[in-house]
Amino acid sequence: MTGHVPPDSPRAILARVFGFPDFRGLQEQAVDAVMAGRDCLVLMPTGGGKSICYQVPALSRPGTGLVISPLIALMDDQVAALRQVGVNAGALHSELEPEDAARVRADLAAGRLDILYVSPERLLSPGTLERLSRLAISVIAIDEAHCISAWGHEFRPEYRALASLPEHFPGVPRIALTATADPRTQADILDALAMPDATVLRASFHRPNLDIAVRPKTAETRQLLDVLDRHGGEAVIVYCGSRNKTERVARSLRERDWPALPFHAGLSPIEKRAALLRFRSGEPVVIVATIAFGMGIDRPDVRAVVHLDMPSSPEAYYQQIGRAGRDGEKSDTVLLYGGDDIARARHWLEQSSAPDIQKRVMSARLEAMIALTETTGCRTQALLACFGENLAEPCGHCDNCRNPVASFDGTVEAQKVLSAIYRIGQKFGAVHVASVLRGKDSEMAARHSHDRLTVFGIGRDRPELFWRGVIRQLIARGAIRVSGEFNALALNQDVARPILRGEERVMLRDDAADALRAAGSART
Ligand code: ADP
Ligand code: ZN
Repeated sequence: MTGHVPPDSPRAILARVFGFPDFRGLQEQAVDAVMAGRDCLVLMPTGGGKSICYQVPALSRPGTGLVISPLIALMDDQVAALRQVGVNAGALHSELEPEDAARVRADLAAGRLDILYVSPERLLSPGTLERLSRLAISVIAIDEAHCISAWGHEFRPEYRALASLPEHFPGVPRIALTATADPRTQADILDALAMPDATVLRASFHRPNLDIAVRPKTAETRQLLDVLDRHGGEAVIVYCGSRNKTERVARSLRERDWPALPFHAGLSPIEKRAALLRFRSGEPVVIVATIAFGMGIDRPDVRAVVHLDMPSSPEAYYQQIGRAGRDGEKSDTVLLYGGDDIARARHWLEQSSAPDIQKRVMSARLEAMIALTETTGCRTQALLACFGENLAEPCGHCDNCRNPVASFDGTVEAQKVLSAIYRIGQKFGAVHVASVLRGKDSEMAARHSHDRLTVFGIGRDRPELFWRGVIRQLIARGAIRVSGEFNALALNQDVARPILRGEERVMLRDDAADALRAAGSART
């Protein structure tokens, strides 16, 4: 049935076609499951080697292997790579030249095609489905399977229709693959594909070559330049929360002679393609992007991923930092976050028109992300715990492991902040609150008579940065709400009252010490 490659044992095919002496990690178990005709769900981090899990069975079992993928660019890459090793692979998608599509169809009908990549829309179009269901199919692979989950941030409605595959291809084993690790998405995939009895193979999502650092945003541009200075001549991705910001940051980097390019969904197709070409070419480049720069980013030597704004969930964060170091070499990831970010993300979620049940899930994820930024424990352990994975020992390569964070009982300091906010009428932003605490004479303080309040100057003994840190942590904790066009701080009574009454202790991270240390280490 197959062309150049006769059916053969999986291990022989692995060696002969792909040149690998051994399976890696869970690949062998996945291949065994499919060879035995069982459905299978593979959860493996990016770079884990998912393709082998379906490519080897596709070549070992009689018939053509179907691979469903949402990413046309990636499909074409995979087809080219397979053809290079002598596998007769083809793709059907909307951007194909008519004569190429005709050749693929002819090969398919003649049973000469080993592997067919197909987009979900194309697969489910009546003509294609009918033609394919008359052929011998060896395996159906559903790549990027998390796209079927409405909870995920990459939901593709057309994936939902894949539930009907068993009707058209009875008895053909299905293998779903994803690099999304959270248990909810996993359950969703099994449910939506109607494969409750699938063998679930879940690799560890620990990426020991990724150094995770999370820092309060004190001076965004300088902090970014500190990271870039360690990565001159390399590829770096900088994620921003908005299109405008990507343009602004890229421009300011170019003014400093960094080879920076913006990337977001608002660019024209030509601009996007040009940016991708440069990124893929292997030359040094700093891509300043929104999350639109995502799936299908396969450059192996990205040496750093920097977040200038907080991602919306641990899942999104993990995927984005996962684009660093796919070649297994040491890579840097740095997340900068601030109280305003946290407040803004909560605000947007509240305002969102999403159904309530979905808002609750999104809110739980956001709060998990916030907790991750404020944790004083091992970041990697905390991140993996979000995916239900228990890393027995602290990782040793995150910022908190390398420089344990000083924490202190900040109950009194928290009370000072909360009282100050209350006394000045819950109408002012963090800068003014810190300035009142420090007892700084200002026009604003004089105009509102804040310099006559008892809270004026009660925090004189601590630097500005210290108070900004306490305020941010109280926002993260939910004791302070931020609202209005001026980011006015107000108390969230339910959380603030027990703190003000001394009924609840507040442990705080010592940001000031942290920031000083970061400034010191950036200079060495
Ligand atoms: P994923 O799709 O999970 O991101 P890929 O399938 O693209 O990962 O594989 C990632 C890299 O690992 C590729 O460069 C591939 O050649 C390599 N690889 C996969 N399986 C093996 C193996 N058994 N032995 C050695 N290298 C492998
Ligand atoms: Zn750690």
